[in-house]
Amino acid sequence: PVVMGIALIAFAVWLIAGYGMSFAVNIGVSVLVVSCPCALGLATPVALMVGTGKAAENGILVKSGEALQKLASVDTVLLDKTGTLTANKPKITKTVVFSGDENELIAVAASAERQSSHPLAKPIIALAEERKLALENVENYKAIQGQGLTATLGGEEVAVGNLRLIKGVLSLDEETLRTAEKAAEENPTVLFVACGGKLKGYFVVEDTVTEQAKKAVNEFKAMKMKVVMLTGDNELAAKKVADELGIDYKAGVLPQDKYSEVVRYTESGRKTLMVGDGVNDAPALTAAYVGMAIGAGTDIAIESADAVLIKNDLRDAVGAVKLGKAVMRNIKENLFWAFFYNAVLIPLACGVLYIPFGVLMNPMYGSAAMSLSSVSVVLNALRLNLVKLGNNKTENKKSEVRVMKENKTRKIDHIIIISMLSVINLVFVLFLISEVSKLCGNFLQIPKGYIYSSYARE
Ligand code: ADP
Ligand code: MG
Repeated sequence: PVVMGIALIAFAVWLIAGYGMSFAVNIGVSVLVVSCPCALGLATPVALMVGTGKAAENGILVKSGEALQKLASVDTVLLDKTGTLTANKPKITKTVVFSGDENELIAVAASAERQSSHPLAKPIIALAEERKLALENVENYKAIQGQGLTATLGGEEVAVGNLRLIKGVLSLDEETLRTAEKAAEENPTVLFVACGGKLKGYFVVEDTVTEQAKKAVNEFKAMKMKVVMLTGDNELAAKKVADELGIDYKAGVLPQDKYSEVVRYTESGRKTLMVGDGVNDAPALTAAYVGMAIGAGTDIAIESADAVLIKNDLRDAVGAVKLGKAVMRNIKENLFWAFFYNAVLIPLACGVLYIPFGVLMNPMYGSAAMSLSSVSVVLNALRLNLVKLGNNKTENKKSEVRVMKENKTRKIDHIIIISMLSVINLVFVLFLISEVSKLCGNFLQIPKGYIYSSYARE
């Protein structure tokens, strides 16, 4: 409507000023054509499209353009421990049997863990499969958040989980209790297996922080973000991991506590990025400003999140934030260019330069200018493909050199595209000026011819 108004006013002004109908119509049409807001309309969606494409290429599935935009303003990172900071496929490093044989222990544990989607269930099931053990179906499976699980197997009560769980479901004799406590103190993650009211044995699981997670946390800290770990695990295990990473933590939190932590940060005005993998993370993922799930995590976490890290690499979360920032910057540049074109060309189309310099615009060139402004917005958005997400594997010297070379060629590409953009804009402006000045000559002739012919008639 504003544009229509401007076009009408320009039309009326020139008509009243006595420049004739065709001149005024020409001006009106030029204004309408030139102010077509295609570039303004394209600025955001094109950048988001290129951005989400780039993210997907890097194993980051962003479910909406909005999430990508939101990532740019994140200032607090909340991380789950098991499966997010620690390996998604932990290893069993030791098996201790109290009663029965080792295979029996593994079979009981795996039969129950088959029902679970927890990362700690995976190595036990894998071990059972490796040994081709026959697994039985359990009944009354119950996941106990932050502790483990209980079920019945062949009429007997089974429990698999940490010391807290075992202490809760069994009354252990002094000696067994001391052995179990010692095991739990010496190893951060121990999975105890109880069956028929007795402790059958335990697995020591290497649930250590991954190298990728360490790097990611350091990068987040370098970006001046507040990094906090929220874990359902016990204080001991939590403190060890948090101290290793040098971050704050909250241990023993239930799913609803993770959720209320997120809400607490949100209410204090912070923009939270929550990364998690488990069932217990789902409410928090939904509540967070941006929720991100580990690809190998549970379905419900993936469902609740705004983005998924397909490669299960926490460094991709850093990459996603960087990409979000780049996308927002790009959108601003695009809006600037789109706005700039309109700000320059609308007055030109209105003919403000006609009286002082005789410069006027032909609607045809106006439409060319508009297409060009859209082209430059699209080209600028495509530049997002050159953003470095910083997850290049540099395991050895050779690949380091390769990465450096890649970065160099990327920089060169970048320069080429920028110069192409500038050249296109420059050529276009020169072209416009020369054509427009030619054209205003034509316009000057029309009134002359008109005057001449009317004279002749007289
Ligand atoms: P986080 O919130 O850090 O991901 P979880 O609450 O998922 O941690 O798990 C915390 C602890 O609960 C684990 O270290 C483990 O001791 C116990 N646990 C949870 N689920 C299971 C399970 N299915 N089997 C065995 N132990 C489990
Ligand atoms: Mg987890």
